[in-house]
Amino acid sequence: MGRVKKSGLTDRQAEALRALPSVEELVEMPELAAAIGEYGRELVVDSARVVVERLRSGILAGKAAGEALGRVGGNAGDVAGGELAFDRLAGAITEEAAKVFLPSLKSLVNATGVVVHTNLGRSVLAPEAIEAVVQATASYSNLEYNLVAGSRGSRHDHITRIITALTGAEDAIVVNNNAAAVLLALAVFGGGRDVIVSRGELIEIGGSFRIPDIMASSTARLVEVGTTNKTKISDYEKAIGPDTAMLLHVHTSNYKVVGFTAEVEIAELAALGHERGVVVVDDLGSGVLADLPALAGEPSVHDSLAAGADVVTFSGDKLLGGPQAGVVVGKREFIAKMKAHPMARAMRVDKMTLAALQATLAIYLKPEEALGRIPTLRMLSEPIDSLQARAEKLASGLSEVIGDAATVAVEKAASKVGGGALPLLELDSYVCSVLPSAITVDDLAARLRETDPPVIGRIHKERLLLDVRTILPEQAEMIAKALRQAFYPEES
Ligand SMILES: *Cc1c(COP(=O)(O)O)cnc(C)c1O
Repeated sequence: MGRVKKSGLTDRQAEALRALPSVEELVEMPELAAAIGEYGRELVVDSARVVVERLRSGILAGKAAGEALGRVGGNAGDVAGGELAFDRLAGAITEEAAKVFLPSLKSLVNATGVVVHTNLGRSVLAPEAIEAVVQATASYSNLEYNLVAGSRGSRHDHITRIITALTGAEDAIVVNNNAAAVLLALAVFGGGRDVIVSRGELIEIGGSFRIPDIMASSTARLVEVGTTNKTKISDYEKAIGPDTAMLLHVHTSNYKVVGFTAEVEIAELAALGHERGVVVVDDLGSGVLADLPALAGEPSVHDSLAAGADVVTFSGDKLLGGPQAGVVVGKREFIAKMKAHPMARAMRVDKMTLAALQATLAIYLKPEEALGRIPTLRMLSEPIDSLQARAEKLASGLSEVIGDAATVAVEKAASKVGGGALPLLELDSYVCSVLPSAITVDDLAARLRETDPPVIGRIHKERLLLDVRTILPEQAEMIAKALRQAFYPEES
């Protein structure tokens, strides 16, 4: 590696950095003339900048050039040794430019067994919902146009009726996601005033959604009551004062406090709120609309309203299985206030969301069909025999294409609901386990992230587990192809 200088760089690294061509030099290469013709100069210049930057960080990280450039083209020589093959660079730059034209959002195979996987897009939409999006976007629509009166209409009207029919609520409004729904409720009812929340419910949901932070940005003042493990109705009672605007109940969706615990039921909270003239809002997180044994224990929207909550909020793309959205249901006067607030305009949903949500909810009107037709519910309710049969079929298909590059077996395992719902629940499932013989399981997982489509499994004890619960029936063949590609890259 040579001598390390004061700058922290070795001689070789310093030399390699000096040897890096400039973006201007690269763009003048005859090898890039075709790319400039096809993609335009601006994009090629930008792509050259990206590639040079990648090389620079590669050198600083002490990588060889081939590694720094990624898996593109032939051998660029060792950058750290100062040697660069220009045709390889041209290839990398051309590839970088071409990427811009490809959709960055790729469909992939979710073999993790986590049904509502936020990193993987949460819900797979029902065919009806997909068709509705196409219908709503291929031409103009009556999004905000009243066809009877021939005048301006409201986008909310497209969705209210079906939500009230399903939940028994008086009225509804749909916003961008449930985080927005909670923020809007806080701003409308609690802005500049006190909102009481139990200390046991000051949750964080993935990344930046924390109840105290969302409260602060709504200008509501957080009044914490009770303790982490126990909050009683008397704690709320004592905390209500002249400035109290709202009692907020938050479903502790992604964790459980077990042992010596007490929390206040929404019915009790609602009774107190109504007695003292304070709005009661219930943030359900997932919000269950279907009667599904697997989801017992997750609070339903209907029950929360029936228990007396004034306003209930839940996600469109968690257990509901629809598009990303925040659904707010409740008493007419409160929903009207939310619709009229300027913040509602900033959170309003697009016609694609309305169309997909309406079509998804329409399936719920026939609950016995919803389990089979909404992918999220179908996955959550797939019988164990069916999972086993699918795992066995997948395994035999995989063994065939993989040969002796890995050992494939069918094993019992547990899937998760995901999406911050039912964190302790393990759903019995079956997986295909793949134990590679010549490469590491991390290498295998990395290779499968690069196949088309990528296949995402979970690693457990040196094996890659592919949980069939979240694998769509038509994806079995794609998985076989991807594994073949991963184990025999020289074939492609
Ligand atoms: C998931 C969740 C949210 C945020 O919902 P998004 O639809 O992801 O914005 C808010 N509150 C609770 C209790 C949740 O579980």
